[in-house]
Amino acid sequence: MSPAQHDIAELEPAELETLLAANGCEPFHARQIFRWIYRYGVTDFGRMTDLSRSLRQQLHDQFVIHTPRIVSDETSSDGTRKLALEFTDGRRIESVFIPDTPSMTFCVSTQVGCAMGCGFCLTGKMGLVRNLTAGEIAGQVRVLAAATGLLDHPFNIVLMGMGEPLHNYEQTMKALRILHSEHGLAVSPRRVTLSTVGIVPGLERLAREPLMPNLAISLHATTDAQRTALVPPNKRYPLASILETCRRFPLKRRNRITFEYVMLDGINDSSEDARRLVRLLSGIKSKVNLIPLNPAPGIPYDRPSDERVNRFAQILADRHITVSVRKSRGRDIRAACGQLIVEGGSRKTAAQQMALLFR
Ligand code: SAH
Ligand code: SF4
Repeated sequence: MSPAQHDIAELEPAELETLLAANGCEPFHARQIFRWIYRYGVTDFGRMTDLSRSLRQQLHDQFVIHTPRIVSDETSSDGTRKLALEFTDGRRIESVFIPDTPSMTFCVSTQVGCAMGCGFCLTGKMGLVRNLTAGEIAGQVRVLAAATGLLDHPFNIVLMGMGEPLHNYEQTMKALRILHSEHGLAVSPRRVTLSTVGIVPGLERLAREPLMPNLAISLHATTDAQRTALVPPNKRYPLASILETCRRFPLKRRNRITFEYVMLDGINDSSEDARRLVRLLSGIKSKVNLIPLNPAPGIPYDRPSDERVNRFAQILADRHITVSVRKSRGRDIRAACGQLIVEGGSRKTAAQQMALLFR
């Protein structure tokens, strides 16, 4: 791509209109192009047949539309599908399709790797390689929707793949605006869930967003000492600050904040932890999603027995907290939560990361 060539996949509708206007085009051309890219999955200007031949040629000469390239596509015995996608610089991430939960769900990455360093997460072991751009984040959805035949069907998006979305705030929110466009995939923010370790300034910004996704907080512990050991950013943004921000978070009627809680055997799964969790959540419209650990080599924790998980869940349920236990999907292809890591994709660094893992 020459420096003068814009990547249209990086643009929101209004930006595309402005760019095209500067090139002598009309606003409706932007809408047409958006429709081709997002509704029909067409990125070759030559095939945008409702544009004049001369306009198609002009677009072809001046612009590009980058789409993440599928480098592998695996399907789990439970139907979960994991795609490894490569961007123009050769970096790779993973995106996951989870069918029938009960909706169709795409689990999307926001960064290559992650800087947060949670002790139970493989992505955390990679460190942060780079942020994804808005076009790369939205591009994953485009590719997943096309690969699963869902371009014109409703689906949910969970920002629970690789990376911490609030650590890549601008690009993540821009991706949501691109995906929301009525001329494109028209994804309602109600169908999007943003999962975060709780970076308080990011949460405060999110509270003021016009397009606000559902919120999931990765809590995982009930004391600061315990949480800082598992989720290092807790040092900077301790439990009380996160929960206070959640208490003030503007929620639509009937909407609730999900608290995710990875269960680690003998670490954070006692009855006392459960009771403390109930106290922490008082006054917050919440529900709890328990995630029994997906174990992996290099992760120094174990998955608790179903009995321990159920006892924990029962304590919450007895105190009127809505609780669910996340079924791990796609574990046989390492597509389950916290199992996303790209081997070899980020070249030297990934090799180093893998070495780290198996130390
Ligand atoms: N960075 C964001 C979103 C990506 S992680 C966040 O942490 O919220 C998505 C979810 O997967 C988080 O709740 C995370 O804690 C969970 N997770 C990470 N590693 C896991 C593992 N090994 N087993 C089970 N869940 C894990
Ligand atoms: Fe990053 Fe989320 Fe993994 Fe923590 S759990 S290291 S925040 S991806």
